[in-house]
Amino acid sequence: MLNWYILQKPIPTMHGATSSEWDSPQLLRLCTGHCRFNSHLHRLGLHPTSNCEQCQVPETVAHFLFVCTTYHSERIKLKRTMESLNIDFILLSVLSDDQAAMHVEEFLRISGRQI
Ligand SMILES: [Zn+2]
Repeated sequence: MLNWYILQKPIPTMHGATSSEWDSPQLLRLCTGHCRFNSHLHRLGLHPTSNCEQCQVPETVAHFLFVCTTYHSERIKLKRTMESLNIDFILLSVLSDDQAAMHVEEFLRISGRQI
């Protein structure tokens, strides 16, 4: 039987920080790609296509964060924040930098997109 305390304890990262910033279930889904985006739903046989209904290209995590025209204005705010923190506005950085977590979560919140 697993100890609940161990499950709740932040996991140290390579840089000595904790992963607590990334404990949000929504952020975990973004990091794993197991989201309600059509690319994932289609893979599971739960959606007829993998495409974003707005852009008609595969709806992936990267598409949502960096490309989809539906979230353009929300993305500008996230991009400016990443620039002010000297975090590269690329998938690897945005989904791994501890400073980015709360801002990615804010992007999710203001986008209104359920993932
Ligand atoms: Zn789109």
